[in-house]
Amino acid sequence: MKNAAELFKALFYPKTCAVCGCIIDEEEELCDYCHETIVRCDPIKRCPRCGTDKRNCQCKKRVFRFDGCIAPFVNTGAARRAMHLFKFRRRLSAENFFARQMALCVRNEYRDISFGGVCFVPMPLKKQLARGYNQSRLLAEKIAEILKLPLCGALYCRRSGKPQHTLSEKERFENVKGLYYAKFPVRGKTLLLVDDIKTTGATLDECAGQLLAAGADSVYCVTALISDRKLKSNNTGKTGGTMLQ
Ligand SMILES: [Zn+2]
Ligand SMILES: [Zn+2]
Repeated sequence: MKNAAELFKALFYPKTCAVCGCIIDEEEELCDYCHETIVRCDPIKRCPRCGTDKRNCQCKKRVFRFDGCIAPFVNTGAARRAMHLFKFRRRLSAENFFARQMALCVRNEYRDISFGGVCFVPMPLKKQLARGYNQSRLLAEKIAEILKLPLCGALYCRRSGKPQHTLSEKERFENVKGLYYAKFPVRGKTLLLVDDIKTTGATLDECAGQLLAAGADSVYCVTALISDRKLKSNNTGKTGGTMLQ
């Protein structure tokens, strides 16, 4: 039987679904409908290096500087809505949901890797001041806490680039060149690099490159969502809203 404090909380602050906000049981994170409709990444069907569906594996045309990329969800439907709520309205239930699911992914899929720290993709200062937070840092902080790993704020932004979602795949890789630098000591460490969404992998690749140049041993990525939408290699990629990076 619930005690008075639990009863009060359940009555006045009930737990809500991380996607649609409807009231759910204390032990759940999503309502039945969102749970059934959310699209999970199946690790068997994905390339362990680039994280893309094996049929469209990006490693056929480029060598990424990170050694792996995993995510709990595909960037569509319920997961996409939850990301929007977290990224633009800072809904705490969505933040907690993604962090727990990403940590679970790391435990399962990177179980043989011994990480020396957790890094995150930085945000240009101007953008962070306007938004008030960097969503990748929030996720990295919670993941580091769950996995009991140190958080390394090793990466910094030199300047603002053009918004990645307005660019083609080729332009995205050009746009991030020289955008980031690493300065926290990362020498000899195997690092977990956290970001919200992986689309082309251009940002993660550039950040991984900077960490390796600073002496890191290897870099493995985890994102909340992976986009399966194929971008044109030359024309503009601006067709899919504002969340793709
Ligand atoms: Zn729901
Ligand atoms: Zn691949």
